Amino acid sequence: MTIISNSLQVIQTNILQAKNRVNRQDAVNLVAVSKAQSAKRLREAYQAGQTIFGENYVQEAIVKQSLLADCNIEWHFIGPIQSNKTQLIAQHFSWVQSVDRLKIAQRLSKARDSTLPPLNICIQINSSNEASKSGIQSQELIDLATEITELPNLKLRGLMAIPAPTSDVAKQRQQFKVVRESFTLLQQNGFDIDTLSIGMSDDYVAAIEEGATIVRIGSAIFGARTPVKNNE
Ligand SMILES: *Cc1c(COP(=O)(O)O)cnc(C)c1O
Repeated sequence: MTIISNSLQVIQTNILQAKNRVNRQDAVNLVAVSKAQSAKRLREAYQAGQTIFGENYVQEAIVKQSLLADCNIEWHFIGPIQSNKTQLIAQHFSWVQSVDRLKIAQRLSKARDSTLPPLNICIQINSSNEASKSGIQSQELIDLATEITELPNLKLRGLMAIPAPTSDVAKQRQQFKVVRESFTLLQQNGFDIDTLSIGMSDDYVAAIEEGATIVRIGSAIFGARTPVKNNE
């Protein structure tokens, strides 16, 4: 058994245990965050059963996608989005988790081939900011969600957040709780959303206990990141 497949197995066990602790029956999907990992290492994870991968850099991702074209992978874009990259992102991914403003959503919608399934979208919110609890930010979130829902070729799925790293589990849960409350707020306002993407290598257990439906895990699968070499 390889190190990668062993790590994946450990993580899946931890996911299951975390779900059981809070009596959850619904799915928690694992996105393997593969930025700075070679296509060869992604293939190793794929062969161990991992089918969802998250990438932060468009050009790097496209190279790996072509090297892995024979694999049935669901690609999620999770990095910061510059508006001049929206065309490529809309063409090469089935999910974009890092939408934080309307302009980006509009450009993605315009660039998405309408013969393809809609691009799945998460709004990325700032959860370490206490002000994100304020009514104004909640209203902004509802407005952005409303506008995204009205765009063609996009499907709003939920929220994504990257809380400030902390080893204090109570603080981890508090930060995730803020995001979950925003998620619930949108549902209560009638949005048909199912995705709460919170939790990374160091805090995914707390995230699952707070309701994560997607965890995005990189270093716990692949080890520490080193610069990518696609010809490996
Ligand atoms: C890098 C990254 C991750 C994974 O981080 P790890 O700590 O390596 O698990 C998750 N989400 C986003 C948005 C990232 O950029």
